[in-house]
Amino acid sequence: MAHCSSPPSFRRTQESIPPSVPWSNPGACLRLCPALEDNAAMRTLETLNFDNTYARLPAAFFERVAPTAFDTPHVVSVNPEAVDLIDLDPDEALRPEFAALLSGKAPLPGSEPIATLYAGHQFGHYVPQLGDGRAILLGEVRNHRGETWDLQLKGGGLTRFSRDGDGRAVLRSTIREYLCGEAMQGLGIPTTRSLCIIGSDEAVMRERVETGAMLVRMAPSHVRFGTFEIFFYRRQYDHLRTLADYVIGRHFPHLGDGPDLYARFLHEVARRTGALIARWQAVGWAHGVMNTDNMSILGLTLDYGPYGFMDGFTPGLVPNHSDRHGRYSFQNQPDIGYWNVRALAQALSPLVGDEDVLRAPELYEETLCRAYADLMQAKLGLTEVHDGDDKLRRDVLALLHSNRVDYTNFFRVLGRFSQDDPSANVPVRDHFLDREGFDWWADRYLARLKAERSVDAERQARMDACNPKYVLRNYLAQVAIERATQHMDYSEIDRLRMLLSHPFDDQPEMNDYAAPPPDWAQHIVVGCSS
Ligand code: AMP
Ligand code: MG
Repeated sequence: MAHCSSPPSFRRTQESIPPSVPWSNPGACLRLCPALEDNAAMRTLETLNFDNTYARLPAAFFERVAPTAFDTPHVVSVNPEAVDLIDLDPDEALRPEFAALLSGKAPLPGSEPIATLYAGHQFGHYVPQLGDGRAILLGEVRNHRGETWDLQLKGGGLTRFSRDGDGRAVLRSTIREYLCGEAMQGLGIPTTRSLCIIGSDEAVMRERVETGAMLVRMAPSHVRFGTFEIFFYRRQYDHLRTLADYVIGRHFPHLGDGPDLYARFLHEVARRTGALIARWQAVGWAHGVMNTDNMSILGLTLDYGPYGFMDGFTPGLVPNHSDRHGRYSFQNQPDIGYWNVRALAQALSPLVGDEDVLRAPELYEETLCRAYADLMQAKLGLTEVHDGDDKLRRDVLALLHSNRVDYTNFFRVLGRFSQDDPSANVPVRDHFLDREGFDWWADRYLARLKAERSVDAERQARMDACNPKYVLRNYLAQVAIERATQHMDYSEIDRLRMLLSHPFDDQPEMNDYAAPPPDWAQHIVVGCSS
């Protein structure tokens, strides 16, 4: 635990375990996606290569259900990078049928729509049945590289699992999920991807009347921790084993075979989850609703609701206005991940030994601590590990916190820190009200850089490659949402998506998008209604 004295503190809970629209110009899209050029096998909407393996699992795993279409669906945004991942010809997005086929108004040939069953721990309490209440898995598309991508329609209408919900999603939340999936991808953080948003004229009731929309998101799998939990709690151990065999066979084939296969699977999921949450901590992002039904078995960031990127460094950030006790605050995420991995280990206990169950959260913790330390070391531009690095890191985070310094911008500007020219360090120093506090830290940072004979230009290049200039700040998303919902102007969605797909690039013409929130945005409230 030596590495881990920085923000990922493990306070074990005692709870029971439990400006352009690219689609108006397909040529521009091709240039944005060089990978498209070597894609030999482009397909039409009618010839997507569906391979619906989940629908071959026992009937108890899902419900076959057709989406409930909008009367007048229209395209809000299409993401060319995701189009490429399923081998779809980019021109297909220009066809009038695109919105109808992707939103269930007309059947997508080869798709076999299902809603999947799962349960999960929500805010610490086990809820015996959740399931896809508004998401419909249209099917899995196999691309020419042999990868398969779930096409999942979120907001596609009622299913057997809708409980009190209406099966719908609103344009506001759909834009947030669409953009953040691609922003995380740009940051190199494992995530579901976003294919498109389909808009409608349908009124959907939330705190107020909003406009309905659907998101088509993609992932190699949307199986969650909770998909395993439901069969454990129902004591359906045959189904549990079938699910484990399916997930391992499709997504963890490198694990091979052997008597300890399930344990190695559990341990890999634990390590992936640790590595994922280390990345969230390092980039300053809070998920907001880390229930076990929102935890991906592949270690992806899954289900973007009331998430938040930090502006000023705030360890106690609780992005979900409805999370009154702050269970899912930024600083609690490492603990909650631990808790969630224990829940998964317990769910897999019929398949693995007691020691394996206990080992899973340990592996999670070890991985998270090591990954977080490495990531923060890189953010500071350090290539070696010296005694005192941990304290150097903790001290700067404490200063960022007490001075409310913008987390993203601080690390970006620290890349310009000069070892020879103190005047070059004025911009970073100016981020702090407590200038002396910064000087105290900067003297030690300077000594530390010299101790590893750091070369400024090389360090800056390294730091720029891991300290993003642009993140999806809440106010940036809010501008895109307001233009879309009030004026049906979707251009800001595309602008943000393109910007955030290259968050480490300077993109000087977009400098304004790196600014901390303006005054009007200080009090944006994000709840879990979506
Ligand atoms: P979430 O908080 O979005 O992760 O959703 C938790 C559970 O509630 C999942 O089973 C969702 O499918 C379900 N759910 C959320 N919103 C709706 C809705 N509008 N209609 C039906 N089910 C929903
Ligand atoms: Mg969810």
